[in-house]
Parts: sequence; C-alpha cells; structure tokens
Amino acid sequence: MSKPKVAFYWCASCGGCEETVVDLAEDILGVVEKVDIVLWPVAMDFKYKDIEAMADKSITATFLNGAIRSTEQEEMARLLRRKSVYLIAYGACAHTGGIPALANQFSREQILKFNYEDAPTLVKGEKTRPLTSFTEEGRTVSLPALHNVVRTLDQVVDVDYYVPGCPPTPKITRAAVNALLEGKLPPKGTVIGPDHALCEECERKDTKPDKWDFVEFKRPHQKLMDEKCFLAQGVVCMGPATRAGCEAQCTAGGMPCTGCFGGTSRVRDQGAKILSSICSNIAAKEEDEIDETLAGIPDPVGTFYRYGLAKSILRRKMNLPTNP
Ligand code: SF4
Ligand code: SF4
Repeated sequence: MSKPKVAFYWCASCGGCEETVVDLAEDILGVVEKVDIVLWPVAMDFKYKDIEAMADKSITATFLNGAIRSTEQEEMARLLRRKSVYLIAYGACAHTGGIPALANQFSREQILKFNYEDAPTLVKGEKTRPLTSFTEEGRTVSLPALHNVVRTLDQVVDVDYYVPGCPPTPKITRAAVNALLEGKLPPKGTVIGPDHALCEECERKDTKPDKWDFVEFKRPHQKLMDEKCFLAQGVVCMGPATRAGCEAQCTAGGMPCTGCFGGTSRVRDQGAKILSSICSNIAAKEEDEIDETLAGIPDPVGTFYRYGLAKSILRRKMNLPTNP
C-alpha cells in the first residue's frame, strides 16, 4: 500500500513553524518513514511543476504556514488546496494572520513608500521601488505583487483543520500528525488543541484576582515582576482570551502571554474580548484619568491583536480593496 503523501509549505511567515517540524527531532524520522513528503521547499528541492502535474487530491495533507500577503502565496494556496484532501492551517499566521497581519494597519502604498522611499536607513535620494515585471532584450521577468491586505488562509481557500501557535509546539504538531496517520481526525474546522483558556494551565492562576481595579499598566521591561499573575501586577496578559495548549510556556518563563494560540471556540474576537475585560476594570472613572491609565498600553493594536488582526472583526484599519 502506498504511503500517504504530505506537503509542507511556507507563505508570509518567519520560518519558525518550519523549525517546529524540525524540532520533532527523532520523531520526524518516524513520520518520514510513514509518509512520502512531496513538497517541503525549506528542506528539499521540489518544483512547482511537480505539484502542478499531480492529480487533484493526491496529497493526503498539506501543512501550510504563513498568512497570504502576495499573489504567489495566493496561487500556491489555491494549487495546494486543489491537490490536497486535507489542508491544514499550520501556525498563528495561517490561522489568524499572525505578526504579518499587523501590516493591515497600513495600505500597500504606505508600506512600499516607507520601505523604499522614506525609511531613515535608505541612502538619501535613492528611491527604488521593486518592479513586478521587467523586460530586457525581449525577455520578461516577473515577481509576485503584494496584496493590499494580509489574509488568513481560510479567507482565501477552504481549510480543514487549524494547528495554533507561534510556532505550534512539537507536542501539538505530533498530535495533529498522529491523528492524520491513525485516521482519528476530529470534525472539519477543529482547532487542534484544548478548548479552554490558557489561565487554566498557568501556574500563576491561583493569584489571579476575581476582580481587578487597574490603576496603571506597565510593559514587562518597565517592572520588576514577581511570581504572581501578570494581570495582578498591572501587566497585560492575554491568557484569559487565549486558547490553552502551549503549557503556558511564556508565563512559566516570566513573560505574559501575548495570545499566539488565538481564542477558544467561544471567543469571537480575541482582542476585543480582553480589551473589554480590561477597560471595564479600570479603577478611574473620569475620562482623563482613564486615559492616563491606558497610556501604559502605548500600542493597543500590537498588544491586543498581535496575532489576530486579520481574523478579527476589525480585520484592517481602512476600507482597503483586497486585490492590487
Ligand atoms: S492572566 Fe496570564 S498570568 Fe494570570 S493566570 Fe492567566 S495566563 Fe496566568
Ligand atoms: S503563553 Fe501565550 S504567547 Fe506564549 S506560547 Fe502560549 S499562547 Fe503563545
């Protein structure tokens, strides 16, 4: 019997998700024995035309990490969707937009202008924009274009499962791969991971107050922190609005949760959920005092929507068209 075919692909992301696959360590050898890897550009040399030539649905599962930012990424997402029985949004960027989706606060034009014309590190007067098409001596070279907004994988194609995290932990990755190999897949649309809040697995949970009266907020580097719940110390922690499954590794390591696992199934908008909870627990009652307290959170989008802006109700700052 032929082995199931598996593909790994990388769109708008940092590469950390690919590291997790490698971090399966010796387990990866067990996986390699049981599957045929038909595409893994970070580790092996496969060509687009090899995948294009495959019959539709001949790949059992594609693990696609990264958000969809460019025309090339959209094309690959559509191709791999067509070729795969299961398409798995692997990691925070494919799942909820991730860090790349923070770019949805700006238009493509603003981003290109800053990076290629106005950035302080550029040589003064040199303003070269990347071209999407260039012709010389009758030959045309083309490059992918940036879309105007960053999208999650499921905003572009149908997705079967989600593996959360920035990056997903080896344990969650192993659970997803084993479910696939053993034919024990959950219902379509499931996020592979527990469906309760991170606080439940945090070792600081016993010091989490039932009621808060926030008088100030500090960022982690501005405060000498102890072992208590971060919220009790006036440091924003996304734990109450975030799905468990990472074994609370950030809070165990002395840093608040920034929300990379996304919300649980009961959370419609992860950022709004924690924002409403925090804002309704501010001690001050007068507007200027409230503003003073909130000044301790200088980057609200980067704090509350660090990984989830593309998937949020807000989705982007301006009403931008999706395509170039
Ligand atoms: S708010 Fe953060 S620090 Fe407090 S219990 Fe929840 S996850 Fe832990
Ligand atoms: S503690 Fe929060 S930010 Fe850290 S890995 Fe877990 S879900 Fe992600």
